Amino acid sequence: MKEPEKHRDSETGKTEVKTTTCYMCACRCGIRVHLRDDEVRYIEGNPEHPLNKGVICAKGASGIMKQYSPARLLKPLKRKEGTDRGAGSFEAITWDEAFGTLEARLAHIRSTDPKKLAFFTGRDQMQALTGMFAKQFGTPNYAAHGGFCSVNMAAGLIYTFGGSFWEFGGPDLERAKLFVMIGTAEDHHSNPMKMALGQFKRDGGRFVAINPVRSGYAAIADDWIAIKPGTDGALLLALIHEILKMGLYDRDFLVNYTNAPELVNQDQDSADFGLFVRTDLPIRDGCADPQNKLWWDRHSDEAVDNRWPDADPRLMGSYKLEDGTPVKPSFQLLHDQVKDYTPEWAADITGIDAATIRELAHEMGITARDQKIELPIAWTDAWGNEHDNVTGPPVAFHAMRGLAAHSNGFQTIRALGILMTILGTIDRPGGVRHRAPFPRPIPPCAKGPTGPEAVQPDTPLDGMPLGWPGAPEDLFVDDEGQPVRLDKAFSWEHPLSVHGLMHNVITNA
Ligand code: SF4
Repeated sequence: MKEPEKHRDSETGKTEVKTTTCYMCACRCGIRVHLRDDEVRYIEGNPEHPLNKGVICAKGASGIMKQYSPARLLKPLKRKEGTDRGAGSFEAITWDEAFGTLEARLAHIRSTDPKKLAFFTGRDQMQALTGMFAKQFGTPNYAAHGGFCSVNMAAGLIYTFGGSFWEFGGPDLERAKLFVMIGTAEDHHSNPMKMALGQFKRDGGRFVAINPVRSGYAAIADDWIAIKPGTDGALLLALIHEILKMGLYDRDFLVNYTNAPELVNQDQDSADFGLFVRTDLPIRDGCADPQNKLWWDRHSDEAVDNRWPDADPRLMGSYKLEDGTPVKPSFQLLHDQVKDYTPEWAADITGIDAATIRELAHEMGITARDQKIELPIAWTDAWGNEHDNVTGPPVAFHAMRGLAAHSNGFQTIRALGILMTILGTIDRPGGVRHRAPFPRPIPPCAKGPTGPEAVQPDTPLDGMPLGWPGAPEDLFVDDEGQPVRLDKAFSWEHPLSVHGLMHNVITNA
């Protein structure tokens, strides 16, 4: 391909503008690419695009180098005969030779043991295609980079409340009063977030950034709270501790839209210890359902089906069912779990002083409780209950892989999900808004291959290589319980690694 010459007049007078999407980062801003004589001359933001409305960043504008960088590979390269692997000695070959070589090798692997193809790709935005290739080839050893990037983040939130940030939803900065951003660099949701933040600040919103470094986002925050890298989980647990202690949780939201009141088996000798109690207790209309969920009703002081008309559950306490089984509402178990996670405890771990943690918890709690938004929009919830208006606590969060890309990242993300849940700031105005369609199942329905026997010569897999385990039987292990995949994803060791574990591949290989 010809390199563009500088300061050259058009040879033909032919100019064109192509409308497309930037992929210099994962925000997918709309762009207009200007061409002259079929060469890209410059790139600008597309003012008609709903996401970025004409805004473009420096990285997006430099996308021209994807076409013209002299460092691009233009032909397949093959290691030179007689040279050692790693010597960096290559020669260009034709595409026919490259495809011929690959076809012969891949056909042999597929007809003998297809899982010997380990197909791990980069951030190519083509996972629908590459995943389909792996499925049709018959190898389960497939993943892209998501497992050590934002999908870790998404998995933790999706398993907690069924949604996440960025592609799955985002903060409602048009209505939020307090916005807390944690563990976020500037590559996810970049231009749209910067535009929304500018407007949020002009509208008088308060912006708190929690990050080890003062990033570009943190530079415009009202408060930048510096935290030691990898310690966000301790901060989040201490915030939960404080909000519960001050009683600043959203009881109505917890009762109506979460499993906080549901009773959990506390009999340590029972096979069901730690599981939600499911019962066939009849409800008032006589219907019995083995999936009935139990609440402890504070009027009748007994366990009732949660669909019992006018049931009003206790969130706290310790009770006994008629058969003597000890039970607690799951909200009580959350209390028990975080009782020692005080701001002083978190201060030692995070480097943030206890007073700052207390103030932040207080600010979140009272903003959520005292500045509630009410919109006159009638709606029907997923259970068929009709409401005259939509309400929401105006505390919004945004987080990314800074929380997730550490040991215990998944649990850190779950702590964020629980903090948002007790504040009631999920899928409501001023909080995080899911993208349609919803409600979605938790976890999502897609499952991986049914078992090791699904890997057969010359046979496609019976499911996509990646999925969302919902129970032990969804794990991808052999008869001895050992992982089938090279990266050990979906094994007892790494059960919920929904986008695979690319960082394990080289070591395990
Ligand atoms: S934020 Fe910049 S690099 Fe990312 S998609 Fe938008 S213009 Fe491209």
